[in-house]
Amino acid sequence: MRVRLETLGCRLNIGEMESLAGQLAAAGHRIVGPGDPADLCVLNTCTVTATAARKSRHMLRRLRRDNSSAVLVVTGCWSQLDQDAARATGARLVVPNENKDRLAEILATEGLLDDGDPVPAADGAPFPALGDHTRAFVKVQDGCDNRCAFCIVTVARGAGLSRPAEEVVAEIRRLTAAGYREAVLSGVHLGSWGHDLGRPRGLEELVRRVLDETRIERLRLSSVEPWDLHEGFFELWEDPRLLPHLHLPLQSGCDATLRRMARRTDTAAFARLVELARAAHPDMAVTTDVMAGFPGETDAELEESLAFVESVGFARLHVFRYSRRPGTPAASMPGQVPGPVASERSRRLHELGARLERAFQARFLGRTMDVLWEEPEPHGAVLRWSGLTSNYLRILTDTPDGTDLANRITAVRLREILPGAILAASPLPLRR
Ligand code: SF4
Repeated sequence: MRVRLETLGCRLNIGEMESLAGQLAAAGHRIVGPGDPADLCVLNTCTVTATAARKSRHMLRRLRRDNSSAVLVVTGCWSQLDQDAARATGARLVVPNENKDRLAEILATEGLLDDGDPVPAADGAPFPALGDHTRAFVKVQDGCDNRCAFCIVTVARGAGLSRPAEEVVAEIRRLTAAGYREAVLSGVHLGSWGHDLGRPRGLEELVRRVLDETRIERLRLSSVEPWDLHEGFFELWEDPRLLPHLHLPLQSGCDATLRRMARRTDTAAFARLVELARAAHPDMAVTTDVMAGFPGETDAELEESLAFVESVGFARLHVFRYSRRPGTPAASMPGQVPGPVASERSRRLHELGARLERAFQARFLGRTMDVLWEEPEPHGAVLRWSGLTSNYLRILTDTPDGTDLANRITAVRLREILPGAILAASPLPLRR
């Protein structure tokens, strides 16, 4: 059976679809790309912003149009909250978030994997990745017990639920055996791993187990809420396989805004965490999310936020405009910020983010660093490869001789800052 898997939104969604891809491939089905005919299409949707919800609807319609004879199955946060709209686009099955981890089993039970002959995966194909990356996103947790005032995801995904450590270890062993060099531990609220199992310092235990019981070469954490980390956590970076990259969502650098957002941190506690992170590893990249135009945000609050973000010196900002999501406390708060004002604030945050990113990149110019290479793109007469350093610097390099760098780790000298990336010299001889 030819199955097309599409995902929108967060890395957790990517991880869920990669896991499904692995299960379907193991059962003899082929995961096909956008240009190939498909018998079954599965879309994992997102609703974190109004734009994400709109994209989910459009993607579903496009899948329907491009694969008129295929069966359409939809899951994820948008279809969870708007099942009627999902069905109206012709989806045969709308799978609730709580059943998403059993999607392969559900597809089989519903008889949706019966039509068409099983098609063996192409020879030597590794565990199939959906994007142009070589990292495997491993879902270790779902849901969240917090109620940040703007967050619809927590409504769509429900309470925090940890995946047993044994399963996580087994999946990472499988990925390692299939050739993956890097795994990214992912969750809606990754830092709460183990809380539902009565283990308040669960994430620390889980990371130790993965490092001790698997041979994965590079282990990265996705986003961790700042209130989940304690001083002892930073000792984990004594193991060089844990990559020096910490994504700590800040949302605002103004304490009054943070209180209205019901975030369980403040700028002083956040700054202390960043200090600890940088003390744990000199190359540590601290990246963050910042929101523009949360209800009640005044010009003065924005200035405070910009000043704090600048003082922290993040390696990268993910900026997004506040999006009013029905069902969240923020949707009915007074002081909704007009769209054009929020856009202008977002522009200023983007500008600051670009400046901070360049400053972080500049620190590493001239250094030789290991890069895990992903996919190439033609660039004039050469192939231009893209990859990531351990501390999340996006690196590009050209290989005129057709060297295949995919999923290799090589040392390269970082030469020149380009928009969003650093151009490196040609790779030194391959390590493997
Ligand atoms: S911590 Fe806050 S923003 Fe993150 S998923 Fe939970 S409620 Fe949403």
